[in-house]
Amino acid sequence: MSQYDYDLFTIGGGSGGVRASRFAAQYGARVAIAESKDLGGTCVNVGCIPKKLMSYSAHFHEDFVDAAGFGWTVGDSRFDWAALIASKDKEIARLNGIYRKILDGARVDIIEGYATIEDAHTVSVNGKRYTAAHILVATGGRPSVPAIPGKELGIVSDDFFHLDALPGRTVVLGGGYIAVELASILNGLGSEVTLVYRGKHLLRGMDSELGVFLAEEMRKKGMSILFENNIEAIEAGGAGSRVKHVRLSDGKTLDADCVLFATGRHANTAGLGLDRAGVTLTDKGAVKVDGNFTSSVQSIHAIGDVIDRIALTPVALAEGMVVAARLFHNGERSLSYDNIPTAVFSHPNVGTVGLSEEDARKKFADVRLFKSEFKALKHTLSGNAERTFMKLVVDAQSDRVLGVHMVGADAGEIIQGFAVALQCGATKAQFDATIGIHPTSAEEFVTMRTPAA
Ligand code: NDP
Repeated sequence: MSQYDYDLFTIGGGSGGVRASRFAAQYGARVAIAESKDLGGTCVNVGCIPKKLMSYSAHFHEDFVDAAGFGWTVGDSRFDWAALIASKDKEIARLNGIYRKILDGARVDIIEGYATIEDAHTVSVNGKRYTAAHILVATGGRPSVPAIPGKELGIVSDDFFHLDALPGRTVVLGGGYIAVELASILNGLGSEVTLVYRGKHLLRGMDSELGVFLAEEMRKKGMSILFENNIEAIEAGGAGSRVKHVRLSDGKTLDADCVLFATGRHANTAGLGLDRAGVTLTDKGAVKVDGNFTSSVQSIHAIGDVIDRIALTPVALAEGMVVAARLFHNGERSLSYDNIPTAVFSHPNVGTVGLSEEDARKKFADVRLFKSEFKALKHTLSGNAERTFMKLVVDAQSDRVLGVHMVGADAGEIIQGFAVALQCGATKAQFDATIGIHPTSAEEFVTMRTPAA
């Protein structure tokens, strides 16, 4: 019998923590997981899932208009924010229950409460101490807000999902994932949106043409986007008023009912007691781990957003499975961070896998590009001005496809399949030899023959 209460004690019941705990238990470990809020973490409660549900809702706005081109007369349409939030909350509650069932089914002990680390093998929750051979920190991240005067008048993505009403006018700060996704949802649902971004093009870090093209499309849908600009201060509009005066770095002032900070996220490590156990943090406050996800303390491991590598749910799941396998199943599972596909659920969607043109040029001497921009078949009748953009980045020497990028409807669905091709090292000749599916947008990726200038 082990000297510890558990073989593994996981702190944080989000995607990564639940997956690691379940797998560890299935490998025979005695596992407990502590969570102070609802099970499912950011993704289920205030991230991927509610965001995507609300994105579907926002799409109807265009669908009603598009329907006319296909012979439909749609009656008066009205949007009810409270009804959407209620439906969304019901689904999230269902998912919270599924997470509980998964853990119960795997015989993982669920401990409700805020856990802190006492030492290398001890965790305390609600004043009770638990010992474990291994501790897994999977506490995720939380939104960062810049230190500007009046910042307390703004909200972050966590608050967005529970606003009591749809704001009439919203100013969104940031040009990353959350900024463009929530701006698109707000716009589709009827809020007047201004996105303020300090950079020159959206989605920094991705192929720059994606951000440029996306901004044009978002503008066509009625969003105002201000580049090379920032919020200097927010002032309250006076007693009883919900209006905020948003002072910008270009000297202008915008009036808004809601200011949404989408200015990045940071690792959730504060107050966890990691310092007591001697765990080393990065300069950004994330848990520093080695290739095995082990921290500077051999019995303490960390995965997911709290290690600040790639903040994506499927990555946290994969990391969780690697840790569970390594600790409790002879370790034969590894994870490559190459070719991780990702989608941004802006309107229109963005999907991308592999190297951007910029990164490819840094690594390869001769990069060949293939690009296509077109109106999707659906919009020939709908009258919708939305256009689709696709781009392949190819190493001319080996003919290997290095990057597949897209802005357009269902980009995430399309890019997932191409991620498999990139994982297999597909060449442009193999893309060319692949028969397209007609008529789709995706077929364009296997029919681009002429390199871009
Ligand atoms: P991002 O890092 O994607 O974007 C943050 C944005 O805020 C950037 O445009 C950044 O500008 C800007 N910013 C940062 N600090 C300041 C500041 N002080 N003043 C003004 N602007 C600032 O973070 P998000 O919060 O959007 O998302 C966090 C992570 O969550 C993502 O990186 C992604 O990994 C994950 N996520 C994934 C989603 C998906 O898979 N669909 C959806 C949502 C989130 P700059 O570019 O100049 O640094």
